Amino acid sequence: MKQGIHPEYKAATVSCACGETFQTQSTKENLKLDICSVCHPFFTGKQKLVDTEGRVDKFIKKYRKQ
Ligand SMILES: [Zn+2]
Repeated sequence: MKQGIHPEYKAATVSCACGETFQTQSTKENLKLDICSVCHPFFTGKQKLVDTEGRVDKFIKKYRKQ
């Protein structure tokens, strides 16, 4: 790796509009999100998606087993 061309990564605190915060690595120390894995409709189960075939339910069950 060449010196000086790569941004310096450091521990960053990501804060979401829902109040969730988590740590990650970033070139910025503080990041703000409007939506994250916690408040995303897919994960809250509040999505208004029309799920006529139960595909989403199947996927969620599969996901939660892991
Ligand atoms: Zn969130």
